[in-house]
Amino acid sequence: MLTCDTYLMPTRLGEALHAWSEAPAGSRLVAGATDILPYAREGRGGDVHLPTMIDLSRVAELQGYEVRGNRVRLGANVVYQQFLEDPTLVRLLPNMPSCAVWFADDQIRQQATLVGNLVNASPAGDGLPPVLTLNGEIELARLESGQIATRTMPVADFITGPGRTELRDGEIATAVTVDAMEGYGGSFQKVGMRRSLVISAVCCAALVKTDPSGRIFEDVRLALGGIGPRPIRLYDIEDMLRGQEMTRELVARASLLPADRVASRSRVAYRRAVVSGFIEAAIEDALVALGAPKPTPEQREALHA
Ligand SMILES: Cc1cc2nc3c(=O)[nH]c(=O)nc-3n(C[C@H](O)[C@H](O)[C@H](O)COP(=O)(O)OP(=O)(O)OC[C@H]3O[C@@H](n4cnc5c(N)ncnc54)[C@H](O)[C@@H]3O)c2cc1C
Repeated sequence: MLTCDTYLMPTRLGEALHAWSEAPAGSRLVAGATDILPYAREGRGGDVHLPTMIDLSRVAELQGYEVRGNRVRLGANVVYQQFLEDPTLVRLLPNMPSCAVWFADDQIRQQATLVGNLVNASPAGDGLPPVLTLNGEIELARLESGQIATRTMPVADFITGPGRTELRDGEIATAVTVDAMEGYGGSFQKVGMRRSLVISAVCCAALVKTDPSGRIFEDVRLALGGIGPRPIRLYDIEDMLRGQEMTRELVARASLLPADRVASRSRVAYRRAVVSGFIEAAIEDALVALGAPKPTPEQREALHA
């Protein structure tokens, strides 16, 4: 069971930061509480009693998003359901809807924030690979001499290991800023112990743009999660594909490269097999999102014969 002495619901960032800087040791921040509640209820943390819980869900400065040129600033309280329903986010962040559609279920998606997913820093957190492909930067606020000060850092550097981040004492994450990728096809692949309501064993995010002829990879971005302590961006495979003619042979060759990067200690052979298939499927699905025909199973088989 999860209990606490004091439950606070600040409505302004300054108020939340003051409460957080004064909270006794062992206190916790919560946003959607979809990580914290199961942690306590399932007994992973035993019966959990916290001195203070600070619920960020009503903090005005953390709500909504803003498009700033070719970047989108997502407030820390943006939840996964918004990536499925908001037409601007669907248009500008083309791999987030396919990530969100396999994320938990309808109820959890209404509560679960992208930022909570990043701060939780699970090696298999679904939001991490898409945010890497979107060049995500996290914004962190703290009090300095009573004033709000912020710093930003790439999400790739913010996550340092399983459950570990660069979040400092007294800091609250206020936003994630990502590239706006209009005109790209996006996709997300995920596999776990079962198809739905499952935490990924391996996941893969892709963004693909073709040249005006539709025959050349103008740009490709790829990232993997669940293969080691942190999600990784596959820059070398992106470089191999960018500017090249789009053939399925090339994609099949590229998909073989990342298998040696599987650094997980469990189910290594399985993860290696999955990773290759995911790269291929992620690129194909991103192209299908741009209007390309989906290859038949026979065409796929022929490449691997
Ligand atoms: C049934 C179920 C299914 C799930 N399915 C998936 C799934 O498919 N894929 C997946 O990746 N995850 C899944 N999860 C895990 C969870 O939903 C996600 O990690 C979610 O994104 C966490 O967001 P939250 O807002 O609920 O975070 P919380 O539980 O509120 O917080 C998570 C952590 O982040 C910290 N935090 C939150 N907001 C801030 C902030 N603004 N600043 C600083 N620290 C902050 C909290 O202190 C806590 O340590 C599932 C959970 C459940 C219960």
